[in-house]
Amino acid sequence: MSISFSEEAQEPIVTSTSILPEDSTEGSLRPRYLRDYTGQEKAKDNLQVFIDAARMRNEPLDHVLLYGPPGLGKTTMAAVIANEMGVNMRITSGPTIEKAGDLAALLTNLQENDILFVDEIHRLNRAVEEILYPAMEDYAIDIIIGKGPSANSVRLDLPHFTLIGATTRAGQLSAPLRDRFGVNLRLELYSPEELQRIVTRSADILGIEIEPSGAYEIASRSRGTPRIANRMLKRVRDYAQVRADGVITKEVANDALIRLEVDQLGLDATDRRMLRSIIEFYNGGPVGLDTLAATIGEEAVTLEDVYEPYLLQQGFLTRTPRGRCVTRRAYEHLGLEYLGQQQMEL
Ligand code: ADP
Repeated sequence: MSISFSEEAQEPIVTSTSILPEDSTEGSLRPRYLRDYTGQEKAKDNLQVFIDAARMRNEPLDHVLLYGPPGLGKTTMAAVIANEMGVNMRITSGPTIEKAGDLAALLTNLQENDILFVDEIHRLNRAVEEILYPAMEDYAIDIIIGKGPSANSVRLDLPHFTLIGATTRAGQLSAPLRDRFGVNLRLELYSPEELQRIVTRSADILGIEIEPSGAYEIASRSRGTPRIANRMLKRVRDYAQVRADGVITKEVANDALIRLEVDQLGLDATDRRMLRSIIEFYNGGPVGLDTLAATIGEEAVTLEDVYEPYLLQQGFLTRTPRGRCVTRRAYEHLGLEYLGQQQMEL
């Protein structure tokens, strides 16, 4: 199948994993307990054991690090943990905690057993991160009072709390911080069947009529990501209302998604531009991530965090020590002739 791709920037696109204004209903779609949380069986199994053990001992849960691409349910999982433990959760994020004092204020305001959720924890600055070490390990922080020679360090005890950190890039966490998490959970891309269940559940909550094949169509085109699946559901619903009596069938979902430039396998314009650039400018690869990012005018971190995971999972892209290469499957998907791995011999 040949697919045209547009050069124009087109934000916000339906396949963006960032939170867009139209995601304002995300809250109501979030599962609240482990039993409603679809997929991630391995992470859930592990968590259940830790939660049960902590509850039996009447202790806070060990600190948890959740990592994986955006939109896979890290924030949702943190809220589920809080509900399962029956405790409150305070939400903040790495870049919003500017000073050590900001974090100290957050920590001292927590109640016993509370959860502090820090999104994008890899973006904490060093000074703030250093406050976290004793807080996580000894439930205490050291505060400097006064200035110059008369300054005094005072140790302040904190309530026993659980830190849940979320990150798209576990590799960027400093070793001392990473080592202080007792539980490490990696979230994986979802299968179409799992996403179909999520789409069906969301449609039910939002009062949208959808056929199973319609839910599957959306599921298989949402790059393994619940945030995208839910967003597509809402866009397809609009289309179904205007064009098809409001019922989402396979055909309606397909028509709507084609209009949104999402192809049969869920690739959007940027995915295709990325693959096509590697083929056209770098003879199929290998090409370094930074060079590729500059070529297509995207940030390297965006390509790595948002686009690559799905392209790798789908077998369109491979990572080699010398850079990224496209596969035969990518040529075929784009309707281009595959001339073999001539690029490897260069
Ligand atoms: P992240 O924090 O990883 O970026 P979120 O937790 O904000 O992702 O999830 C995005 C949306 O996807 C949530 O609003 C929720 O509705 C949906 N979602 C995520 N994971 C699941 C899941 N396992 N089951 C059902 N819905 C989910």
